[in-house]
Amino acid sequence: MRAYSYCPHCTTALAKDMIDGRERLFCPSCSWVNYVNPLPVAVAYTVNKKNELLVIRRAHEPAFNEWALPGGFLEVGEEPHEGCLRELMEETALNGTIERLIGVYHRDVELYGSLLVIAYKVMVTDDAITINNEVFEAGFYPQHLMPEVRIPLHVQIINDAVR
Ligand SMILES: [Zn+2]
Repeated sequence: MRAYSYCPHCTTALAKDMIDGRERLFCPSCSWVNYVNPLPVAVAYTVNKKNELLVIRRAHEPAFNEWALPGGFLEVGEEPHEGCLRELMEETALNGTIERLIGVYHRDVELYGSLLVIAYKVMVTDDAITINNEVFEAGFYPQHLMPEVRIPLHVQIINDAVR
């Protein structure tokens, strides 16, 4: 993630100082402080009526071409569970319902910095998939036939979901 060099309000070069217990960039001219907060992401652990798990093969970075759980960034003003179901709908055209919260996680990702990841268990009754351009392929798999998911956070969510 690229850091700011200039104030986005008055274009003065930013300086560094300890502010609220951390070293932060700030504007010596207008006092704007570059607070950096985690980006919220919703992830859908999605099962069909046969209790098969939905995995997708990602067509974008990070984790390009890796098998993963569907998900994405929340939009402003969106409830986390709504964002979870929206991302599922966008990537797979599946209409899910939230069963429960699995967990809330923090990860640092090179591309985006700090992420706050909210994982839900989602149920679908109609499991006919139509993928969008963020995904190479997607399918529901029983555990013994599932492609290997290698993204550490997604492995953890899968383990936490079946606990
Ligand atoms: Zn400024």
